[in-house]
Amino acid sequence: MSFGDNKLGIHALCWVGGWSEAEARKAIEGTARVGYDLIEIPALDPDRIDAALTAKLLQEYGLSATISLGLGPETDLSTGDPDKVERGEALLMKVVAIARDIGATHICGILYSALMKYHEPATEDGLRASVDVLRRVCAEADKSGITIGMEVVNRYETNIANTAAQGVALCEMIGAPNVKVHLDTYHMHIEEADAARAIVETGDRLGYFHLGECHRGYLGSGSIDFPPIFRALAQIDYSGPLVFESFSSEVVDPQLSRILGIWRNLWTDGEDLIGHALDYTRAQVVSAQQTEGLAAPRQRGVLQHG
Ligand code: MN
Repeated sequence: MSFGDNKLGIHALCWVGGWSEAEARKAIEGTARVGYDLIEIPALDPDRIDAALTAKLLQEYGLSATISLGLGPETDLSTGDPDKVERGEALLMKVVAIARDIGATHICGILYSALMKYHEPATEDGLRASVDVLRRVCAEADKSGITIGMEVVNRYETNIANTAAQGVALCEMIGAPNVKVHLDTYHMHIEEADAARAIVETGDRLGYFHLGECHRGYLGSGSIDFPPIFRALAQIDYSGPLVFESFSSEVVDPQLSRILGIWRNLWTDGEDLIGHALDYTRAQVVSAQQTEGLAAPRQRGVLQHG
């Protein structure tokens, strides 16, 4: 596997707000029909996922799956509060079991703290409690060959990992072979001084990648400069999933949409958005492969002779 072989995926919330049988079928059938390889299924509440049904639909349509979530205030490992830590570990272990049962390859998101605006910095004790649990969660996931992605998000969604460098440090603290950094262009646009450089510095510790515009709408319609980002992914030969994430008040997940602050309509025609994202991503991947292929030998030459 190398850059260009990446599985291209889409977040299920581009299609549906819930995961009833009809919704799961609509999202999985649509994702396969448009031409994606992978669907990312949100699991803030894993009880709403019927694993047997989901596994059957994924198989029927030949799709890969991943699962994402953020912890909540009552399951926040980073509080260090014993009851919350226990509930957080139980939630993550339940998600690992579902991921195993549906054959998901990755569990990612804000697994180390709650997905919310904090009003205080993180504490050492809280971080240690979180890391202890995540080590056990990673070990359990590893038995089923599942990669765990620590998503780096902006300051309004966690107080622990806002930059790629903090994501790398968190993964090093956990120290599991299957823990990786999960980056997202939407968050990087807010927090990183240089997104491309952050990707290069993350290097082979990068295991999952979200593509999102600055306003979470159509790729290319906002202020994110995607070409250098894709060239950086080509430079580190990133071969993991590339997953488009977009949210609009057109499709509402009663939990996730509110936490993420999805108050306005960025699009109404999900089908058009979803097809466009795939075309846009493919074009960026091909362009990055070509430009890196042309540039790399000369760059090495400059370094050797300069
Ligand atoms: Mn994301």
